[in-house]
Amino acid sequence: MMLKTIAVLGGGPGGLYAARLLKLSHPEAQVTLYEQGVPEKTFGFGVGLASRTQRNLRLADTASLDAIVAASHPHDMSMRVGDQHVQLAHGELLAIGRATLLGVLQRFAQDAGVQLRFDERRSVGDLDADLIVAADGINSTTRTELADDFKPDIAEGRGLYLWCGTEFALPSAVFTPVTTEHGSFVAHAYPYASDRSTFLIETDESTWRRAGFEDTTRDTPATQTDQASLDYLQDAFSDALHGHRLIGNRTRWMRFRTVHCGTWHTGNVVLLGDAAHTAHYSIGSGTKLAMEDAIVLDRAITAADTLDEALDAYEQDRRPAVDHLQSIALRSMLWWDSFPDRMTTMPVEQLMLAYMTRAGKVTVERFADSAPHVARRGVAAYAAVREDDVPPSGDLVDWILGRPLIRGSRRFDGRVVPHEIGAEPTVHRVDVGATAAWGDDADRVISELPPAEIYLLVGPADRESLLNRFDFAERLRHATGALVAVDLPADRRADAAAALVSERADLVTFTD
Ligand SMILES: Cc1cc2nc3c(=O)[nH]c(=O)nc-3n(C[C@H](O)[C@H](O)[C@H](O)COP(=O)(O)OP(=O)(O)OC[C@H]3O[C@@H](n4cnc5c(N)ncnc54)[C@H](O)[C@@H]3O)c2cc1C
Repeated sequence: MMLKTIAVLGGGPGGLYAARLLKLSHPEAQVTLYEQGVPEKTFGFGVGLASRTQRNLRLADTASLDAIVAASHPHDMSMRVGDQHVQLAHGELLAIGRATLLGVLQRFAQDAGVQLRFDERRSVGDLDADLIVAADGINSTTRTELADDFKPDIAEGRGLYLWCGTEFALPSAVFTPVTTEHGSFVAHAYPYASDRSTFLIETDESTWRRAGFEDTTRDTPATQTDQASLDYLQDAFSDALHGHRLIGNRTRWMRFRTVHCGTWHTGNVVLLGDAAHTAHYSIGSGTKLAMEDAIVLDRAITAADTLDEALDAYEQDRRPAVDHLQSIALRSMLWWDSFPDRMTTMPVEQLMLAYMTRAGKVTVERFADSAPHVARRGVAAYAAVREDDVPPSGDLVDWILGRPLIRGSRRFDGRVVPHEIGAEPTVHRVDVGATAAWGDDADRVISELPPAEIYLLVGPADRESLLNRFDFAERLRHATGALVAVDLPADRRADAAAALVSERADLVTFTD
């Protein structure tokens, strides 16, 4: 396909990377990128790049990935709760300052022959090109202007977060909660340069109000930092900060917005990156998704005969991966929103196990293979045994399912109970259906439940529904203090083990 002119709107990671790849694959085309900002005034702190992302970027463009890796900061992961601390060797996690990443991508786009036009805010209506790539970020005006075509759906999370930094490198990435007189705050923090770390701090709405942040948010102009909140958090996280200060850059409390669109292309305009979709920051995937979109778009355009075919292929190819990540990200967001509930009940190794398996992506056995010591201690805490009594990872699933449970006068010899339990008078069966575990519908279902000794949650057999059922079960356990059993297909034993060990459910029933 011959493309003479390509316009890219937005010079974030998605736009810059797409511009470079498209120019490399269409050397004869004129590729122009418009960015409203100026390079030295970039907003943001560090972003993370996981190992699989690095592999994908390497396959698409080795030279730019090498430069990104050279400018990045490697780190391990850890979790700290009070004075308990666990460390995971992770090997290939990298983080890079957003400004540094953009600097590398600008240089590589320019080297390929892309015209970079900074300080130029444009809308699709101003642009005349064979192809317009709209990579104009989460507040995309392209998506809004063409909303009838793109059919965006934007959902706001319940919790609040702010993004800030500090002037020293943490020894590893860390998840750490603190409790103040107003409630709980959790920091996700990671080093991204030898003298810088990102601090992403979140809290629930009532804590936010009690701490007076509704007022400070209202009183902070959009272009400034909410200094009162930073001062408060600097004090609250003084241990994790080792006495350093928190620094802001237009830092203010926000609610995460998850963007979905009915379609990503119309005519010669195609959405890419945050403009098309977002995924909660707790899985650190926004930059990855934007850059991988660019890879798939470039391939689709190179392979197809017409632009329509190419944009169709881009969307068809890319949607399943994006949908999958968005569902994991949603589960992760909800896990963090409800984090304070778990803090008081689990030792840190078990909490780490719950964290790693929270989105259904990592099984207990896989985690035990990568971090045997942490996993064994977490499993030992679940089973109330010594670490030495926990079997090797290959035998873990059956062992976890076989642990006894004693509650009051009831004793269960293992965690798998027969369906008939649903007929007992003290057991209440709840068809969760498609009700999301958090949200107004779930609040209503839970508030209307009659008291019971055991709740048995049933619903559709597909994996998304059953993972949702476990999230629902965890909420119900905390809300009622009752035992909660979850029904699931018999071939989902690994999911059952992960949920039991993470205290999302107490018991399971299996359906063939
Ligand atoms: C708190 C937080 C933490 C995050 N942490 C991570 C992380 O650890 N790892 C990770 O991978 N991702 C992270 N992200 C997500 C990441 O920042 C974004 O997903 C990513 O930058 C998306 O890239 P993009 O190119 O689509 O859009 P953006 O990076 O937002 O770029 C869009 C660009 O378009 C420009 N623009 C907008 N409108 C116009 C216009 N009309 N004309 C000209 N220019 C315009 C903007 O100035 C901007 O430069 C985080 C996000 C948040 C909110």
